[in-house]
Amino acid sequence: MVVDAVLNKIKQQQQEEQQSLKMYHSTQTVIHEALKKLNFGEQMYELLKEPLRFLEVRIPIKMDDGTVKVFTGYRSQHNDSVGPTKGGIRFHPEVNEAEVKALSIWMSLKCGITNLPFGGGKGGIICDPRKMSGRELECLSRGYVRAISQIVGPCKDIPAPDVYTNSQIMAWMVDEYSHLREFDSPGFITGKPLVLGGSKGRETATAHGVAIVIEEAAKKKGINLKDARVVIQGFGNAGSYLAKFMHDAGAKVVGVSDVLGAITDQNGLDIDYLLDCRDSFGTFSSLFNNTISNKELLELDCDILVPAAISNQITEKNAYDIKASIVVEAANGPTTLEATKILNDRGVFLVPDILSNAGGVTVSYFEWVQNNQSYYWTEEEVDNKLKKIMVDSFENVYRISQIHQVDMRLAAYMVGIKKLAEASCFRGWA
Ligand code: NAD
Repeated sequence: MVVDAVLNKIKQQQQEEQQSLKMYHSTQTVIHEALKKLNFGEQMYELLKEPLRFLEVRIPIKMDDGTVKVFTGYRSQHNDSVGPTKGGIRFHPEVNEAEVKALSIWMSLKCGITNLPFGGGKGGIICDPRKMSGRELECLSRGYVRAISQIVGPCKDIPAPDVYTNSQIMAWMVDEYSHLREFDSPGFITGKPLVLGGSKGRETATAHGVAIVIEEAAKKKGINLKDARVVIQGFGNAGSYLAKFMHDAGAKVVGVSDVLGAITDQNGLDIDYLLDCRDSFGTFSSLFNNTISNKELLELDCDILVPAAISNQITEKNAYDIKASIVVEAANGPTTLEATKILNDRGVFLVPDILSNAGGVTVSYFEWVQNNQSYYWTEEEVDNKLKKIMVDSFENVYRISQIHQVDMRLAAYMVGIKKLAEASCFRGWA
């Protein structure tokens, strides 16, 4: 029995690694295509297809039961030709090398689309924070910072929160980094609590950015947001605040989910109630009896579908069953390339992750600017600046898709990669 369980776990891990590898190769394929469309040669592709730097670390932690467990962590830095690298840290059992590398490339593209002075970075630790105590999580967060401290910093690589990491974890990390450097370094990490130099509007920034993009996409498709039916997969930082933004905009949120299951109501769910009862990991569904699966949720009748949980959710297996006319990717990599093609062929308007969820890194950039200046902005200033960047970015990607007659994903890659490629040329890297 024990052997079977171990073998099953290894098999599952291998399948997840295969999926991530596929996602990584798909990213490289679209980068290749985007560079060709922009008339850059093979040398540029050689440079940009992989991260410039990748570090794997092992972090020993004394657990509450007295045993020592060794965790594996990663930090990937895709390209720093336009500035320091920037990107979140993920704590998740399914983190792996290919996923972290792909995520760091996407961060480069997001910064290119929003015209931020950063390249892409990403980090992750293979762990399940839902099964760890606060003390264990603090030790792991601090241990990770000690392990990667040589390659990160306010002018080198600036981390941020991602799946299953939050402002408390950022607080432990900035504290550890400041101890190591022997001076307060708020610009080392973003997504911090306000009292430690966090930015107003950062907590809701990703969802806010997605909401702005949904509004722009709805205009293009002639859909009135008031009364539009919206389905959101995932009820964590991105999904839960997005549900609130959609609800406040007059839309009906008719389905939401967490890792365990989903709930639906065609008359519109009570979002304020759900926000009150979700836990810090974005879980709420165990409180309900009539749940449906995440698979069923994605296929619900609706106008706008927002995958806001994890990657590889819309594949060639379910792309024909998606009923929404607009899909806006709040999660990173929720739709495979095969599914992208199917959705495009079916006339579904797909707004890609690297555009729609770029609000998070944009306000992270604002946080870093405020930290460097020690001068802090009002929420209104943050929101207005975010809105301008998101609307301009959407319009720019949409314009390129029309001019080159390509889908929104390829257009977003073209916009995102252009600045990196040009900066790399000037530096003589390709
Ligand atoms: P989170 O940890 O706050 O929430 C994740 C949500 O997804 C939870 O509701 C969880 O229950 C659900 N979930 C986890 N595993 C799942 C599974 N196997 N199937 C269905 N649901 C599952 O994470 P988040 O910060 O909201 O991030 C969600 C997505 O948005 C990720 O892909 C992340 O990379 C992306 N993203 C987040 C930010 C940010 O600022 N938080 C920025 C850009 C992109």
